[in-house]
Amino acid sequence: MRTNTNIKTLPPRGKRTYESRTRRPSFARSIKPAVKIEARGVNLDSELTVKFAALGGLEEVGRNMMFFEYGDEIIIIDAGLQFPEETTPGIDFIIPNTSYFENKKKNIRALIITHGHLDHIGAIPYIMEKLGNPVIYTTALNKAMIIRRQEEFSNAPKLEFEIVKNGETRQISKNFKVEFFSTAHTIPDSIGVILDTPVGKMVHPGDFRIDYDIEGNPQNMDTWEKIGKQKIHTLLLESTGADKEGHSLSERIVEAEIEKIFKKVEGRIIIATFASLLNRLSEIIKIAEKYNRKIFISGFSMKANIQIAQNLGYMKIKKETVAPLEEINKYRDDKIVVLCTGAQGESNASLMRIINGEHKQIQIKKGDTVLLSSSVIPGNERSVQILLDDIARQGGIIYHSRMVDIHSSGHAPQEDLKIIMKMVKPKFYTPVHGYYFMRWRNAQLAQESLKLKPEETPIVDNGQPILFSKNSAIVSEEIIPTYYVMVDGLGVGDVGEVVLRDRRALAQEGMVVVIATLDRRTGHFLKNPDIISRGFIYLKENKELVEDLRKKIRLMISRIPRQQQMDADYIKGMMRDQISQFLYNKTKRRPMILPVLIEV
Ligand SMILES: [Zn+2]
Ligand SMILES: [Zn+2]
Repeated sequence: MRTNTNIKTLPPRGKRTYESRTRRPSFARSIKPAVKIEARGVNLDSELTVKFAALGGLEEVGRNMMFFEYGDEIIIIDAGLQFPEETTPGIDFIIPNTSYFENKKKNIRALIITHGHLDHIGAIPYIMEKLGNPVIYTTALNKAMIIRRQEEFSNAPKLEFEIVKNGETRQISKNFKVEFFSTAHTIPDSIGVILDTPVGKMVHPGDFRIDYDIEGNPQNMDTWEKIGKQKIHTLLLESTGADKEGHSLSERIVEAEIEKIFKKVEGRIIIATFASLLNRLSEIIKIAEKYNRKIFISGFSMKANIQIAQNLGYMKIKKETVAPLEEINKYRDDKIVVLCTGAQGESNASLMRIINGEHKQIQIKKGDTVLLSSSVIPGNERSVQILLDDIARQGGIIYHSRMVDIHSSGHAPQEDLKIIMKMVKPKFYTPVHGYYFMRWRNAQLAQESLKLKPEETPIVDNGQPILFSKNSAIVSEEIIPTYYVMVDGLGVGDVGEVVLRDRRALAQEGMVVVIATLDRRTGHFLKNPDIISRGFIYLKENKELVEDLRKKIRLMISRIPRQQQMDADYIKGMMRDQISQFLYNKTKRRPMILPVLIEV
């Protein structure tokens, strides 16, 4: 493995945003081999450069959004959301920060959407207006999925679409021509782009894998062969699978394994997977038809997605196959397949409701077979464990992807990434889609298999542009804002760092409310201060501490100088500081202190 010896560490990136302050451990920055490539005499001002940057997706798996800019023309690819994490309690979603485009709306010539997964389309309802509502170039299925989601937002603007197909080329603006090509992923109608720019052709397939038949022969490789015959300047490949060895598992093997289970099971079969894993759902439905079982779909998004795919002809389902959930009790157990969401242990998904006994029609019973047909997303291990425990306790027989091959990832692992790199033979290689480690691993693969130098495989973070000229890729010192924009209920961007800090403090240390009733004229206590605790300590069992605290407050108030006796803000601030210090000395905890002053 080659090390990045000739890579310089960037100087501290000046005013960092909330995101990097809180999410990236401080040591990470010092070891961060983010490249600063010497210009080596190249005069950037006089040479044509295409600026590439990502507003999300490079330091996480989620909120994917990247753009290419040349002169006054901008092409954006994808607009996804990210699910909340431990550091953002109570947040619904995180979406890309679009402030870079504030004064450049008119320059945006297109939003290209590669596929219908939420980490690529989820932010559309929130940000289209901020982008000036550009034309969305995408395939028919993606369009239907975007519109379906848009309908949940009554004030969202009407969207304008250009439907594109495999092999089509569009002159999107004066300097950008785009050729679209079909890719293999877990959802039909995924599309990649060959961006023809003034400095050369840049290829980005979006999320992809290689499909194999049951004998292990790769499918549809002619597309990549054709791309390899064009002179490709830059290849941008996803990194989600870059730390996994080997090739993609054939979806045909997955199918065969699922069919084996259908063959031997006599009770009900309950299959949990992602609502957007349309290819898998389609396979399962076919197998169910073969074994004369009815399909019952539980979960709004899954039902909606299957309907869309069926309407557009991506799924062929016999008329009598799908039956309404309400009728499930009319059928014998060996005639039933339930398709539901919640294989990641998501608290509000169907499977969780089934297990908790909150589902109207279905509960787990002895003899049920439950298949979790998805891999565990990093971070969800614990909730999946709880799920497995509960199903087992209730008598269900479980199959999940760690036990049998009933799931294949949609993201190319190492050997598949290498195949594509070698076929495309780009001059520059940029890893996208994934955490730093995944992207670093991806860059290593490119350096090994394409004999590229580190400066030819730049690894950048969100908001860190690469300036591509014909013969160089230079990481710019510019910092584009990428700090979190959070969606909480109906509010977009109104939850900031202060609110989050409070939520974290409340979650970790609890809260103490102190209510002091004072005489307006004398500034003296009218009664003993009230003390309320939530999540800090149980007051009834800590009477001594409470009494000490009351004494402390009375003493504090009595010492307030006369001229400040009527200054409520001063008194509250002092109470907050001193009570916090007092409780910390006694308990080594720092609950949130909420002083309430009542003057009568
Ligand atoms: Zn993705
Ligand atoms: Zn995807």
